Amino acid sequence: MMRQYELVERVQRYKPDVNEALLNKAYVYAMQKHGHQRRASGDPYFSHPLEVAAILTDMHLDEATIAVALLHDTIEDTSATRAEIDELFGPDIGKLVEGLTKLKKLDLVSKKAEQAENLRKLLLAISEDVRVLLVKLADRLHNMRTLHHVPESKRLRIAEETMDIYAPLAGRMGMQGMREELEELAFRYINPEAYRTVTERLAEMSERSKGVLGDIEKALSAQFEKYAIKAEVKSRQKKPWSVFRKMETKALSFEQLSDIFGFRVVVDSVEDCYRALGSIHTTWSMVPGRFKDYISTPKQNDYRSIHTTIVGPSRQRIELQIRTREMNKIAEYGVAAHSIYKDNAGKATNGAGHTISKETNAYGWLRRTIEQLADGDNPEDFLENTKLELFQDQVFCFTPKGMLIALPRGATPIDFAYAVHTDVGDTCVGAKVNGRVMPLMTELKNGDEVEIIRSKAQVPPAAWESIVVTGKARSAIRRATKNAIRKQYSGLGARILERAFERAGKKFSKDSLKSVLHRLARKDIEDVLASVGRGELSSNDVVRAVFPDYKEERATHPAKPREEGWSKIRNAAGMLFQIPGRSTAPSRKEQKAQGSAVPIRGVSGDLPVRFAPEGAVPGDRIVGIMQPGSGITIYPIQSPSLMAFDDQPERWIDVRWDLDEGSKERFPARLSVTAINAPGSLADIAQVVAANDANIHTLSMIRTAPDFTEMLLDLEVWDLKHLNRLISQLKDNSSVSDARRVNG
Ligand code: MN
Repeated sequence: MMRQYELVERVQRYKPDVNEALLNKAYVYAMQKHGHQRRASGDPYFSHPLEVAAILTDMHLDEATIAVALLHDTIEDTSATRAEIDELFGPDIGKLVEGLTKLKKLDLVSKKAEQAENLRKLLLAISEDVRVLLVKLADRLHNMRTLHHVPESKRLRIAEETMDIYAPLAGRMGMQGMREELEELAFRYINPEAYRTVTERLAEMSERSKGVLGDIEKALSAQFEKYAIKAEVKSRQKKPWSVFRKMETKALSFEQLSDIFGFRVVVDSVEDCYRALGSIHTTWSMVPGRFKDYISTPKQNDYRSIHTTIVGPSRQRIELQIRTREMNKIAEYGVAAHSIYKDNAGKATNGAGHTISKETNAYGWLRRTIEQLADGDNPEDFLENTKLELFQDQVFCFTPKGMLIALPRGATPIDFAYAVHTDVGDTCVGAKVNGRVMPLMTELKNGDEVEIIRSKAQVPPAAWESIVVTGKARSAIRRATKNAIRKQYSGLGARILERAFERAGKKFSKDSLKSVLHRLARKDIEDVLASVGRGELSSNDVVRAVFPDYKEERATHPAKPREEGWSKIRNAAGMLFQIPGRSTAPSRKEQKAQGSAVPIRGVSGDLPVRFAPEGAVPGDRIVGIMQPGSGITIYPIQSPSLMAFDDQPERWIDVRWDLDEGSKERFPARLSVTAINAPGSLADIAQVVAANDANIHTLSMIRTAPDFTEMLLDLEVWDLKHLNRLISQLKDNSSVSDARRVNG
């Protein structure tokens, strides 16, 4: 195990002014906290964070990141707390360690290849800081290096996750070395046979080509010497995984692969890159279409290099990459190589050779990285990183089965349900977030596991439309609400038609409407029923359409409530209205049919049954008026507004209350109250209302005179008895000169 002083020395080598105290403190703290814990290999647990730190020193990361690496498993696996780490190491380090703790929780979630992209985004969104990701990648790398100690049953899952999530992430962060090693290690466990075959053949090939490669290397070096260019020439062999993937995706045999070997030429300056290129192109012929200058036109991610392919000394194709030392470092270490982590330099040099402000450079670089990470797979990706603002408008949540759902920020469990499936949304009645039942308007957070509680009886309430944030949920709710309302109207329409046919002494059947759709100008039976329910089509017109010889007798009005032949209509509040099913006493058989209620749900104004503005409460005698386009309006029978309908008997519908014993529903009633103008009189009125367990829905001033004020109170009460008691108590109050029901 690496000693404390060895770790410090490693950092000192690239950062002479290292904060030794910080490293020492983190080393000792983590070692003590992990104590006697052991890894699967039997090694002391502390060897793991230490190795992770060592991997990061290879990337020349700053001491804060190294310290975080040492501490990365303490909050999750030991008695350490965020508060303690904040106190000992400062809140910046505390925050980073906590970020890693959050990421660790994701390890428990099942990860499928098809959701890998979202998982990478989730990692980014949760990480908030690129250093968290760097430590996470180093952590994964060490775990992969020691994967053979882990029980065999777990190896494949971890290897697949590495291949699907972490290797591509390393690649997109520009860390080619990390990516290649992760891929190689994962490949070994995912497809051991292919791994062995490809590795063996690569070794054979490399053995066979040794001479040729040596010759090419020599020829290139000699060439550069001739032109006085200081250059390092290295042959490169493709890695087993990329060879295998190329064989698979392009359906090539091993022998058909042409670019297994390549050379990298590393020089001191940008100028030397072009001089080296010139000397090569003047000596050997280049392969057309293979030349790319990423120095004059860097890739979006800042990758810089010249690529060319030539026909070499022994007539074979040779791929070449020409770049400076600095470019090479960025290509190798990506985000980790960037100046943002080197606090010893106030300035950074970009590839074009001019100095730019470190901050601007770093910021621009961050932006590009993030955009690129968001863009998805770009096969030529190198480089990049952090403050992951791009994802701040998104949250990523899981189903109980581990499926990842990406949602806009502010999304609720309802949005989640609709994102899973429209049916799930339509039948959603509740939600558990991380195992706890939560309100449906809860705002979801990254990493939340959401379980939707469903009921087949559910129709999504129209009010959900204003809670949800996704378009999909909104339009599905609108559709479902519309359908539900339509169903209620057509149910009501069927009742009204039954009654109208009865009155005409005819038998009603839905099928009889089929042949007269044309005459009624309606497209289907449902449409006829809903039109009648909405009051757009008169029931008599339907009777006449079906029985053209029927001679209508004018009905008398207003219809009187009758005791026989009532059909029930349930409104939103669960209250049942009844409308008469027929004008004569029903036969026994018909009596049986009466029980079939037309269920009406929801409180929206679109629903078939609602109250007149002055309200109606149980105990009132009531009557319904068909309102074209909006169903039935309920009026107290004494309401003067009813006069307006005197000459339209076909619009009158008999209704009556049908409430369950002990119903907890409230009903609207409007009062006119005249109060004496004195301080506190309004409070007195409110007090009486409250003391009587009634609600004030709205209150409006009608008239203000010097001595009194007349106001309208829209109340919600249990029933007529309740209302009358309230009125009499208001009258008794010294602040009130008069209180009476409007239209009462
Ligand atoms: Mn770890």
